[in-house]
Amino acid sequence: MRIERVELFMVRLPLKRAYETSGSRETHQTHVLARVESEGAVGWGESVAPEQPWYSGETPKTVWYALDEVILPQLLGVDLGGPADTDLKLAWIREHRMAKATIEMAIWDLFAKREGVSLSKLLGGTRTRIPCGVAIGIHPTVESLIETIERELAGGYQRVKLKIKPGADGHVAEAVRNRFPNLKFMLDANSAYTLADLQLFKRIDAYHPMMIEQPLAHDDIVDHATLQKEIATPVCLDESIHTSEDARKAVDIGATKIINIKAGRVGGHASAKRVHDVSAERNVPVWCGGMLEFGIGRAHNVHLASLPNFSLPGDVSASERYFETEIIGEPFTVAKDGTMKVPAGPGIGVTVLEDVIRTLALQTKEYRPG
Ligand code: MG
Repeated sequence: MRIERVELFMVRLPLKRAYETSGSRETHQTHVLARVESEGAVGWGESVAPEQPWYSGETPKTVWYALDEVILPQLLGVDLGGPADTDLKLAWIREHRMAKATIEMAIWDLFAKREGVSLSKLLGGTRTRIPCGVAIGIHPTVESLIETIERELAGGYQRVKLKIKPGADGHVAEAVRNRFPNLKFMLDANSAYTLADLQLFKRIDAYHPMMIEQPLAHDDIVDHATLQKEIATPVCLDESIHTSEDARKAVDIGATKIINIKAGRVGGHASAKRVHDVSAERNVPVWCGGMLEFGIGRAHNVHLASLPNFSLPGDVSASERYFETEIIGEPFTVAKDGTMKVPAGPGIGVTVLEDVIRTLALQTKEYRPG
């Protein structure tokens, strides 16, 4: 299949509520959307880089730069034999994984639409519904956090993930466990701690979180292995895992018992499938992380999370929690049983609201083979 035309759109949407992590406080999300066309079919992708480089080095501007200068010239007019070929063509480009994923995932959507199958089917998914969890940002008080958790549980979510940071950690876990004795909750530190905080993690063991996500440095696996030997709570890596090789090494040295997969972080669906497979071979469960995606990115996550080893509820939640404005016609909702339906139509299976995107876009650019 020959890539005949690509369009990029930079879209910025306000969040309904500011979202705080150990590294950031965000009020808006700016994502690059890619529209790719071949033989009358159209595929869509969405970047996940936050506005500031607190999660990785990538931002919407670096995504745009990498697509514009380096990535798209590799793909325009090129004949791709299958959806995994994009990943092979881009393999020589180091880093820029969120930029690569933006177009790589659009091309998976395109292939699925051309074949008339759902993206889930093309990826090898086996679920028609996925279990949903929700990520909750750092709150100013424990009382307000508990109110938010009550609201989310009433909405049907099967587990909650609580962001923590130094000063809002051990007592948060304690208060949440005391208020909700049977709640499935996990903690996400986004790399805010070091091994000097070992006593804190030992204290947290007593409150039985399902896991603690990325407690130590964003580029570490060795200290995480040391930490895991000392604590009962399973460690789950997010930021440290960029490839299936990273996943293999982290599991083999005992640095992680669970892996958070984000297709954007690892360079797209082909790489995400490899991380999924390496984890499955080692009996390490995975779940699908979230980066406050708009509707297109959210749809990609739902299809990816239908693969068999995504056995834990991920951060895939209803769009209405985050945004007033929708860029797809069928916003994702969570049923009372805490699951979400995987769209059955071709590709990502949702109607992309192109008019809305074209009206909102702060920047656009069109590419055709030279
Ligand atoms: Mg995380």
